[in-house]
Amino acid sequence: MGEMEEDRDNVGKLFEDFVQSSTCKGALQAFNVLCRRLDLDPADNDIFYSSLKAKLTSWKAQALWSKLDKRMSHKEYKKGQACVGTKCLIIGGGPCGLRTAIELALMGAKVVVIEKRDSFARNNVLHLWPYTIHDLRGLGAKKFYGKFCAGAIDHISIQKLQLVLLKVALIVAVEFHINVEFVKLLEPPEDQENEGIGWRAAIRPADHPVANFEFDVVVGADGRRNTLEGFKRKEFRGKLAIAITANFINRNTTAEARVEEISGVAFIFNQKFFLDLKEETGIDLENIVYYRDNTHYFVMTAKKQSLLDKGVVIHDYIDTQMLLSSENVNQEALLCYAREAADFGTNYQLPTLDFAMNHCGQPDVAMFDFTNMYASENAALVRERFGHQLLVALVGDSLLEPFWPMGTGCARGFLAAFDTAWMVKSWAQGRTALEVLAERESIYRLLPQTTTENIGKNFEQYTIDPGTRYPNLNSACVRPHQVRHLYISTELS
Ligand code: FAD
Repeated sequence: MGEMEEDRDNVGKLFEDFVQSSTCKGALQAFNVLCRRLDLDPADNDIFYSSLKAKLTSWKAQALWSKLDKRMSHKEYKKGQACVGTKCLIIGGGPCGLRTAIELALMGAKVVVIEKRDSFARNNVLHLWPYTIHDLRGLGAKKFYGKFCAGAIDHISIQKLQLVLLKVALIVAVEFHINVEFVKLLEPPEDQENEGIGWRAAIRPADHPVANFEFDVVVGADGRRNTLEGFKRKEFRGKLAIAITANFINRNTTAEARVEEISGVAFIFNQKFFLDLKEETGIDLENIVYYRDNTHYFVMTAKKQSLLDKGVVIHDYIDTQMLLSSENVNQEALLCYAREAADFGTNYQLPTLDFAMNHCGQPDVAMFDFTNMYASENAALVRERFGHQLLVALVGDSLLEPFWPMGTGCARGFLAAFDTAWMVKSWAQGRTALEVLAERESIYRLLPQTTTENIGKNFEQYTIDPGTRYPNLNSACVRPHQVRHLYISTELS
């Protein structure tokens, strides 16, 4: 073998290691090794993708490049020039933070993502709407995860989705840091000595290099307990809803593969199922979902009385926080409840129901209160201090809390990611802050109503331009004078 050929084989192997890596740390490490070997620095974000592409020419790499090239050809990105010079910090490396990061990077922005955890460990499974499947395929999801949406399957475990998105993000030169927690925004300093320094973030650990990163856009994608200040939250009070999630080990046997999935049997549609369940086991549910993915994943909404009857919840309290507090929950009884419901739900066809472990090494069962759902009143705001403007946005669960059994988390989360990217583009192109905010709020009004039925049907045409996705869009329904309160200038106050 010639030296050059051998060299190409080695590089191909490093690329393959990266593509196949199965953990967050593994992907980051394989990517670093690859970059060092190719003498490429992702900090050169404007030329990184094209340089990587030029150096990796195996058929497998090329199959990925052709997918990504197609995506990059959207006219909205202006050949990667739409947001050149814009610097963005994204808080949280969940699916929505990563999806936003990719869009911003495709427009040529410098993007840094900080994630407080050090691994992707969530077994829980997300239901994907058809457009999200189409979107992820367009990013080459199948190249990283061969089983992605094979056949009729329309779901993915959160950790697998994060891993696919992380790999795409790295390829488009997003900087990703684990073990870095956002604490708060730091205003540009007033003193003469530090004049010119812009907005930064206080982070943990405080001495991490990201502490010096100055940015003009910050996106809160840190899940339901978002940390960015200034966003009022609306609360939707429903009737008491207690959800239980449970993950069992999937040994991938033929017997397991034969068991039918349950994609949301609602009580009203299948009363007999739930009545039989109650009669046979004493378990009383409003709905149950079963997906076979990395694990056997179940999510169900349980009625309080049956949790009390089965000894899962010990005392009956009106206050749901007290009701579901760890002291008031019998963990063993909860495991039995979840296992029994799963067994009945799958007609006793799963050969074994051994719990998968969560990131703490405990059986992966959790019980959550869904009674109150939160949504942020606004999707974005602008802060100004000493002439430095900062665009502040929310995406994903931080913006609009999803109802898990309906699987709206990822679908609406990605729509918000695209809408946010569209806003950043307008911002980078010099539209005034009030115009940008008014348009963002107009579009945000549509988000809580979106369903698989009422969004655009032509997924091929989807871009960050909201007009390609929302059929009845009126992007001027909120007027600039109505969003003045979202322009927060410390000088004026
Ligand atoms: P998340 O996925 O919550 O990601 C937020 C990320 O931000 C996390 O990685 C977190 O570690 C990080 N983070 C948080 N605070 C900081 C900080 N200060 N600094 C840096 N990083 C930070 N959906 C379903 O459809 N089915 C389910 O069963 C289901 N179960 C869930 C269980 C849990 C415990 C949680 C939290 C969510 C669950 N969801 C479920 C919702 C689903 O995970 C989200 O809709 C989906 O992951 C998209 O959310 P996201 O990216 O906005 O936020």
